[in-house]
Amino acid sequence: MELLFYNTLTRRKEVFQPIHPPRVGVYTCGPTVYNYAHIGNLRTYIFSDILKRVMMYNGFKVKHVMNITDVGHLTGDRDMGEDKLEKGARKEGKSAWEIAEYYTQAFKNDIKRLNILDPTLWCKATDTIDDQIALIRTLEQKGYTYKTKDGVYFDTSKFEGYTKLSHQDLEALQEGARVERNPEKRNFTDFALWKFSPQGARRQMEWPSPWGVGFPGWHIECSAMSMKFLGEMLDIHCGGTDHVDVHHTNEIAQSEAATGKPFFNFWMHGAFLIIAGGKKMAKSEGNFLTLERTISMNGIDPLAFRFAAFQTHYRKPMEYSETALAAAQNGLQHLRNQVRTLADQAQADRIDPGFQEKFKQALNNDLNMPQALAVVQDLLKSDLAVSVKLATVYDMDRVMGLDLDKAAASETLPDDVHALVDARRIAREEKQWALSDELRDKIQAMGYVVQDKPQGMKVFKP
Ligand SMILES: [Zn+2]
Repeated sequence: MELLFYNTLTRRKEVFQPIHPPRVGVYTCGPTVYNYAHIGNLRTYIFSDILKRVMMYNGFKVKHVMNITDVGHLTGDRDMGEDKLEKGARKEGKSAWEIAEYYTQAFKNDIKRLNILDPTLWCKATDTIDDQIALIRTLEQKGYTYKTKDGVYFDTSKFEGYTKLSHQDLEALQEGARVERNPEKRNFTDFALWKFSPQGARRQMEWPSPWGVGFPGWHIECSAMSMKFLGEMLDIHCGGTDHVDVHHTNEIAQSEAATGKPFFNFWMHGAFLIIAGGKKMAKSEGNFLTLERTISMNGIDPLAFRFAAFQTHYRKPMEYSETALAAAQNGLQHLRNQVRTLADQAQADRIDPGFQEKFKQALNNDLNMPQALAVVQDLLKSDLAVSVKLATVYDMDRVMGLDLDKAAASETLPDDVHALVDARRIAREEKQWALSDELRDKIQAMGYVVQDKPQGMKVFKP
């Protein structure tokens, strides 16, 4: 069956063909680890997880690379402003390395709770400085760079097709550009490949280079790492839609300038999460919610957020509200109960090819999750044999990643009790003992016995 993906580069849905089938190379721009990820960021990683799972569901072997930006991402859009990590480190009284390590772990923990599959390979900007320097050298040799007092810059006017991804009108953009500008830059779109450490000051993270001591620009790391780890398999590059205008545009310019070859065939972007009322969630807006806060404030299972993300197509803004989240929690609980009821009656047997086909059709049409979920409900309402329904829904869960098999293995409990049990299981996994005790008391107050056994928690009516 054909796979159709919307390609930002061409602004239309195209049939996806890997360069070296059945292998597919996917690169996702990872987090800048100076703070927790907010749920808007996490929505993007749920999108790339679905993308990857759908390709696996279609029989492709996916090599997925994700980077960790642990150096040099500046607070301004275009190479002005402070390094976010060094700034964060100062604020928290820790070293930049400690900050990076701490938030890297926090990020990995978040994606684990959301059942986002780990990439085949994690890579860190600070582990690939030599590769980045080598790439900048190539650009220098080909005449694409120039030096200013504060760094080595890429001359965007020398790269034809600079706006091919963003389709921006640069003249109009320049008119409206803020005054935050480096007068030595030849074009306002030029960007730093290498920044020098400030005169007379030592940075915590700095390296020698042929041009002087300093640190790499943000964009160069993704070019260097994707080429290093994916080689020729430059199939899909994905990330948040906020990366289109600057970060991905610059990645394409410097990579294609260096190699003379197209850099990634497909560019896919997940839309923002907006707070009901219309504002996008962003660290810079100061309105960001971490996954932890979202879960604890609303008493939900983290997978309810994953399920909530499925309700909106990835290219449309997802509206976040507590009501929408509560609805998702109920929806997920309902689905789990449906599966549990089936599992109580029969063993999973064979997959129904008709429903599998319909499910795949929805997914292969640019990852239409809302439609795929409708197919799941049609399946559960159908008059197929229970054993077939069960096998088919488990198969679909390879893409959804909602742990439906685990739900089936647990005892049938009312929805509200079950939500508390799920929340307590997570609290215990995270060693939040006070919260765990509080949740136990709540479950007991509802008339249930809670026992902690070596194989897990047991909850039942006395
Ligand atoms: Zn990137």
